[in-house]
Amino acid sequence: MISQDILIVGGGLAGLAAALSCDSHLKVAVISKVHPLRSHSVAAQGGINAALGNNPDGKDDSWERHAFDTIKGSDYLADQDVAEVMCQKAVSTIYELEYLGVPFSRFPGGLIAQRPFGGAGFPRTCYAADRTGLVILHTLFEQSIRKQVKFYNEWLVTKLVVKDGKCLGVVVYDLATGQIMPVRTRAAIFATGGYGRVYSKTTNAYINHGSGTGIAYKAGVPLRDMEFVQFHPTSLFGKNILITEGARGEGGYLVNNKGKRFMADYAPSTMELAPRDIVARAIQTEIDKGNGFDDQYIHLDLRHIAEEKIKKRLPGIREICINFAGIDPVEAPIPIQPAQHYSMGGIDIDPKCASQVEGFFAAGECACVGVHGANRLGGNSLLDTVVFGKISGEEASVYIKGSEGTNSDEKILLEEALEVKTRVEEWEKRDSGEKIHRLLERLKVVMSEKVGIFRKKEDLTEGMEKISELKEDYKRVYLSGNCLRYSQELVNLLEFDSMLDLAEVITLGALRREETRGSHYRLDFKERNDKDWLKHTLASCKEGKPQISYSGVNISKYEPEARKY
Ligand SMILES: Cc1cc2nc3c(=O)[nH]c(=O)nc-3n(C[C@H](O)[C@H](O)[C@H](O)COP(=O)(O)OP(=O)(O)OC[C@H]3O[C@@H](n4cnc5c(N)ncnc54)[C@H](O)[C@@H]3O)c2cc1C
Repeated sequence: MISQDILIVGGGLAGLAAALSCDSHLKVAVISKVHPLRSHSVAAQGGINAALGNNPDGKDDSWERHAFDTIKGSDYLADQDVAEVMCQKAVSTIYELEYLGVPFSRFPGGLIAQRPFGGAGFPRTCYAADRTGLVILHTLFEQSIRKQVKFYNEWLVTKLVVKDGKCLGVVVYDLATGQIMPVRTRAAIFATGGYGRVYSKTTNAYINHGSGTGIAYKAGVPLRDMEFVQFHPTSLFGKNILITEGARGEGGYLVNNKGKRFMADYAPSTMELAPRDIVARAIQTEIDKGNGFDDQYIHLDLRHIAEEKIKKRLPGIREICINFAGIDPVEAPIPIQPAQHYSMGGIDIDPKCASQVEGFFAAGECACVGVHGANRLGGNSLLDTVVFGKISGEEASVYIKGSEGTNSDEKILLEEALEVKTRVEEWEKRDSGEKIHRLLERLKVVMSEKVGIFRKKEDLTEGMEKISELKEDYKRVYLSGNCLRYSQELVNLLEFDSMLDLAEVITLGALRREETRGSHYRLDFKERNDKDWLKHTLASCKEGKPQISYSGVNISKYEPEARKY
């Protein structure tokens, strides 16, 4: 049986940052369902935040201001102590990335360039044109190879094995051989990314099913604040490919069918650079009011920006528009609409990235350490992945020094792998029933229609019913092909279980939370209610069903106030 000291699941930024920070005397491996360089991190465009103060308009910036903006942006649901840690570490994190080889864009004098982003008091988003995720991921991957980190690519983790509150290992499906087998480890770090593909309109990659989060939940780890789903204001109409916030940071306007820059009605002082929850709602409101184009989209207009600047700072965006919409943003406005983008919630972890299960850690988008609260600011996720990815590797290394496995662990791991094999055999044996891709489509429609930007009790209740029906139908699924090698159908069958759980937890959390906060907007409870709802939602899996409880928010320096922009 393969056996590791630390097993990292996920080869995106959080996973690689973790791998690089593990004690080098330990046996460390990274498992990823795709080649690490195909992780969704590679698609990050706009940048990563740190109060470097390099922009002439940002001279007075400080990590404290960054922390304040993050907390205000979170609609005061962020844990203030952890948000401070992230923002304080941001500055050294950027310089570390630079030393590792990340080719950041520069100002003419040579300093790392910084652009304005939504909800930020100063221009503090560092970038590499509009390919920031790509350059950081490639750099960390190179460094991981240099450090001789072991990679198991195209392995899908299907189960986390926990016994007596302690992590023993995982069960994997090896796509190339079709084998299902256990992997033993003394500590595991999940860095499995977001679940965007639970929605039909999303900027996320096709692989973003969120199964890691669902697997942890099934194994008994609570999920936190899952009802907070970020919808990005600007995705390319129809295709939902992301058009970075950097396009507005560089000066882009949002315009409705009357030719009006309508953000003046929603966020008069920050306009297009209000936080994402506010801008996404404004756009959707304009479309719903009949001020959109074809009742479906509005315009992101860059034409007043110098052609040279567009070509230099937003080359990827220009390429996307030309290739996927036949539009050159130098000459024509970009048709855009909001789409699911990011998960503020996730696996409940403490500031050391440890969960309630001994030896089980998490970091990055799959986790909820508490820095984004009810709404994440653009540029803060890449920062979160690198800062907390690193902490998770360090803390897992400290943890295993005091832990020893026993031989009975192997027996348990084999039994758990057998359970997965038996499930797959049952799907293989059936020759009729439900087709997984149909269920997947149905789930996406439910989530988009019932648990979207605007929510209300009736829709959420109906959403819960539809998810229950899907859970019943999932019991009758079957595998139509009989080859288990590279079976995308089997991948979907295995991950769908998690997707259903996540959908249920998101919807139930949203139904219970009778207030509006950040990305969670209730048409029937339009105000934020700190008296009753300034608290985190925790969802635990008890006999297959979610149980909701609540926990306190760390408020240290910043008393919650009305959020105006
Ligand atoms: C289009 C786009 C642009 C963005 N731009 C920005 C930006 O400019 N700035 C910013 O701050 N944020 C941005 N974000 C958000 C940010 O990129 C992500 O939140 C972040 O990169 C997530 O990193 P991660 O390491 O947590 O996960 P990912 O990069 O998504 O990696 C997840 C990894 O887990 C693996 N995995 C998942 N499930 C399993 C499983 N069951 N078994 C085995 N392996 C598994 C995958 O193979 C993958 O390697 C953007 C997001 C998108 C979608």
